Amino acid sequence: MEKDHMDYAVELDIAVKPTTPVPGLGKEYGYYVGAGNPLFSVGGGVLRTVLKHILHKYHAKRGYYVVETPLLARTTLYEVTGHLQFYKENMFLVNIEGDEYAIKPMNCPFHVLIFMNLLQKYQAKVALPFKIFETGTVHRYEIAGALRGLLRVRAFTQDDAHIFAREEDVEQSLIEVFDMMKDVYEKLFHIPVTSETVRLRLSLSAKDKIGSEFMGEPEMWRFSEEKLFKVAEEIKRRYGIEFFAEEGEAAFYGPKLDVVVFEEDGKEWQIGTAQFDFNLPMRFKLNELLRETHGLEGNIYMIHRALLGSLERFIGIYLEMYKGRLPFVLAPLQALVVGILTGKEDVDSKIKKLVEEAKDKLLREEIRASSLYTTKTHLSKDVRKVESTVKPPLMIYVGQREAEKGLVTVRPYSHAERRRLQRTVSINEIMEVVSEMEEGVKALVGAPVRLPADPSYMT
Ligand code: ZN
Repeated sequence: MEKDHMDYAVELDIAVKPTTPVPGLGKEYGYYVGAGNPLFSVGGGVLRTVLKHILHKYHAKRGYYVVETPLLARTTLYEVTGHLQFYKENMFLVNIEGDEYAIKPMNCPFHVLIFMNLLQKYQAKVALPFKIFETGTVHRYEIAGALRGLLRVRAFTQDDAHIFAREEDVEQSLIEVFDMMKDVYEKLFHIPVTSETVRLRLSLSAKDKIGSEFMGEPEMWRFSEEKLFKVAEEIKRRYGIEFFAEEGEAAFYGPKLDVVVFEEDGKEWQIGTAQFDFNLPMRFKLNELLRETHGLEGNIYMIHRALLGSLERFIGIYLEMYKGRLPFVLAPLQALVVGILTGKEDVDSKIKKLVEEAKDKLLREEIRASSLYTTKTHLSKDVRKVESTVKPPLMIYVGQREAEKGLVTVRPYSHAERRRLQRTVSINEIMEVVSEMEEGVKALVGAPVRLPADPSYMT
């Protein structure tokens, strides 16, 4: 049977399988943690922490302010936003001292409040477009039958940002969102964003239903949809990426642009999204406030956007798409040094020395590395086991041939070629190979991102 994302997640120690029994307690992990509430393990902790750090730094470098907002808020907030009226059945409510609270189903209302407070304090010094980012964990009710592994969950973390832009900045802001998406997909995840792999989907209103099914002024719909077409045409001009429009598919509060990946087998999945919102600015009276602080003419446009969407879902899809092959910077076990012992004492002591040197070097540089000893006879079986489970992106071999020369054989995994490339280097040159594998991330955030951990339990 073909492995699914949860099999990979377990092999890579990313998440705990809910159906596994807890030793001694008689029930499964899922029984205690609850459905749709993924329990990430140590490997998952590494992956998520590094990923969030990269996203925080990348967004900060692109002019986004990075924030963190509370998990709980009084439902008075969701009265203002309208969620209590239109979204209540998807929200988890909690009663605290007679007051009703909700676990946040989205981060937007908090971002709007933060923006408003800045405007209040610093007036026109707050530059527009204002961009605010959070890796925010939200909870939404889904019926148990709809839940599936990491793909459909009740608790998830979004790479969530909101852009507040004047009319004249809307187009540029949207193009920038697409460029960031392309940047992150290609440089961090090795997913090419090209005319062959990706298409843009515009979800628009139905003209005759504006004012009823689609809220807001016809003028705002016309403006936004025109901008979406302009942006899609610009992206097509730059990258050859095609787009298609679906009328009547917009949310009630605004039209949107999604980036959809088409796989060879016809499977499609939506990755990034940028969505106009006419509802929240109106409910929070943002136009009025910005007229005071910035002398705003026309409307302020609020855009929700995510590059990856839900981290859980993204990780799940990625694991299936790449059969558990994670990018070097995100893999729980990044490098494995394999010593191939010969049974000849003098040779083996040289091999062990090189293996330990290589591993120590990597650990000192905060690369998550481990070692493994085998023999020529068991080599292929042992490697097969590692390659079918923990899949370290960088494999390093030390056998008799290497020991005689004082060198090691490196076999980094190349996502572009979907295979390992091989060469022989000195211990000191291993970090050059590491550096090559970190190139994409360095291009994104200006420096390598490393989180040390002892992954030796995995081998
Ligand atoms: Zn939002």
